[in-house]
Amino acid sequence: MGRDPRYDILFEPVKIGPVTARNRFYQVPHCNGMGYRDPTALARMRGVKAEGGWAVVCTEQVEFHHTSEITPFIELRMFDDQDIPMLARMTDAVHEHGSLAGIELCYNGMNGPNFYSREVPMGPAHLPVATFTNDPIQARAMDKQDIANLRRWHRKAALRGKESGFDIVYIYAAHGLGAPHHFLSRRFNDRGDEYGGSLENRARLLKELIEDTKDAVGETCGVAVRVTLDELMGPEGFQKSEAEEVIGLLGELPDLWDVCLAGWENDSVTSRFGEEGAQESFAEGVKALTSKPVVGVGRFTSPDAMVRQVRTGILDMIGAARPSIADPFLPKKIEEGRPEDIRECIGCNICVSGDFTMSPIRCTQNPTMGEEWRRGWHPERIAPKGSDDSVLVVGGGPAGLECARALGRRGYAVTLAEAGTELGGRVTQESRLPGLSAWGRVRDYREGQIQQLPSIEVYFDSRLTAEEVLSFGFAHVALATGATWRRDGVARAHTRPLDLDPAMELLTPDDLMAGKRPRGRRVVLYDDDHYYMGGVLAELLANDGAEVHIVTPAADVSNWTHNTMEQHRIQARLLELGVVLHPHRAIFSAGGDSVALRCVFTGRESSLACDSLVLVTARLPNEVLYQELLGRRSGWADAGIKSVTPIGDALGPGTIAAAVYAGRRYAEELDGPDLDDDLPPFRREVTALAPLQAE
Ligand code: ADP
Ligand code: SF4
Repeated sequence: MGRDPRYDILFEPVKIGPVTARNRFYQVPHCNGMGYRDPTALARMRGVKAEGGWAVVCTEQVEFHHTSEITPFIELRMFDDQDIPMLARMTDAVHEHGSLAGIELCYNGMNGPNFYSREVPMGPAHLPVATFTNDPIQARAMDKQDIANLRRWHRKAALRGKESGFDIVYIYAAHGLGAPHHFLSRRFNDRGDEYGGSLENRARLLKELIEDTKDAVGETCGVAVRVTLDELMGPEGFQKSEAEEVIGLLGELPDLWDVCLAGWENDSVTSRFGEEGAQESFAEGVKALTSKPVVGVGRFTSPDAMVRQVRTGILDMIGAARPSIADPFLPKKIEEGRPEDIRECIGCNICVSGDFTMSPIRCTQNPTMGEEWRRGWHPERIAPKGSDDSVLVVGGGPAGLECARALGRRGYAVTLAEAGTELGGRVTQESRLPGLSAWGRVRDYREGQIQQLPSIEVYFDSRLTAEEVLSFGFAHVALATGATWRRDGVARAHTRPLDLDPAMELLTPDDLMAGKRPRGRRVVLYDDDHYYMGGVLAELLANDGAEVHIVTPAADVSNWTHNTMEQHRIQARLLELGVVLHPHRAIFSAGGDSVALRCVFTGRESSLACDSLVLVTARLPNEVLYQELLGRRSGWADAGIKSVTPIGDALGPGTIAAAVYAGRRYAEELDGPDLDDDLPPFRREVTALAPLQAE
């Protein structure tokens, strides 16, 4: 089927200086936790994006000088010529599919603690480094020589970028992560020389870097500027009016403007706090200030929303990081007239957590993300089936759905049995909680795909017993039966059940998601899980009018969501709702009308009045069926069963991303070669050893 003519405009070429993008789909730079440690995995990942139709595919920020690096974060590096082959691997992978490769040269300046190089960081002023971890390091104010040096280093980096095969070279003045941004923002720049004061002065470094880059590589490479439109701090920070003045001043100098919000947490806002196209009011008007193409982001997954951006003159190119992670083939699917196959990003920021945990990028929607080279997985292709064996998948949550879908794509005859009357398991339940509706896309995509696959049969109202499983005669059984929240308080602070008086009403997330509500008004929610669930349920209960107290051993609510860059928003929302926070405290017992708390530092005890206690602690796998089947192992062969395998939360409760990944892994590995458990089941890139002696 051909593409809908309504979307033709998205496939028009766009000239970026001396190079031309074949369509308007632009993968803006994005971090991925692989960087210099996993360059081949990274190159393959970018290559798959190009294959999927993104006309421009960029790197993440690339550290180009040793006086500016952001260890422990793992990004690409280009300190000297040694790094060129590593970068060229990526440009080759992108060029193989006819796309342009862009490099985001980054001088972090006062955003880099330089833990690796041990150099003193530099910025516009003497200020503590602006890192996520309040490192005990100050940046020193750059003098004229430092600025001249930076310009020389940037120029050399642009030339190395060109030599590595990049078609687009960036000057990075965005997100509060690069020196040009720090110079632009009055928050950081209090200089009295020609690089401080007026906006023209604050933009001087940016202007010089653009001119230097044009001069160095402008004949062959497009020169792009990524600039902050607003820091969302009101008059305290860099504001849209200033951004407009900068673009007004420098509008025709670069070949492309890539506009975004700062900091990164505002640019990549989660779906809980921002809709698709949330940056529109900021990007609006930029195009009037320049004749050069403008790229912007907005977690765009709908082709109609994209067309609107172009037609109404807000953007020329549709920038995407997360939508391209969730679906590297998004452009191809629109081009081929099958937008219903798009795997839409759910805005959960698990991808971002890869960078924050220095681990290879992962994605809730796209289990192949980061595994393209490591395991040879592809977002759209999977090997044909290895036998005519039939497979029973028990449970229609994210693990079961992805397992069935991927097995169906391989051509296996699959039966999916679900105890309930709807698909999606925890995803369906959680998507009904405040702010999480977009998470239902994990189910929607898979349900839609399963409907297209005739080899998959789905049965509802089918809570299977071991007896039934044995009677069916399937060769393989994947148990994706999920997990249940504990009601005994066991998690991190307590690894043994708590002393809980049965007179106290106890509720778990499962109870609340099933529609049960506390009897009393005063609710204590004990969060020893630390991801989103405690905060979301507190919001739900507060919206219902309960007086909610969160007790947590952590310093703040939903502590792990620092890794998804939304902790500050969650805490603000709860405080606005009047939720009372009791950090650094663990509950150790619950009586008739109060709970007893203990300070995690001093052990000092206190008590808190409470009508109902909500325990957001650990989960236990639903493994009754598995245990029953194990108990009848001797009957498997007669029943024609070759394997029974628990997957997803039924094996080890984790994130939705982990459940989807588990489903995919089962499907990828069925009838595959026997894996040696003593060895990693993925490829590793091992650093080449340098000579022991200096040569
Ligand atoms: P995961 O995240 O691992 O996919 P979920 O908890 O989201 O797990 O989904 C588990 C699904 O399995 C739920 O929809 C549940 O109704 C279903 N289920 C659990 N036990 C059985 C069973 N014995 N037979 C059929 N379905 C089951
Ligand atoms: Fe989107 Fe979540 Fe995937 Fe990131 S991890 S791309 S936010 S679905």
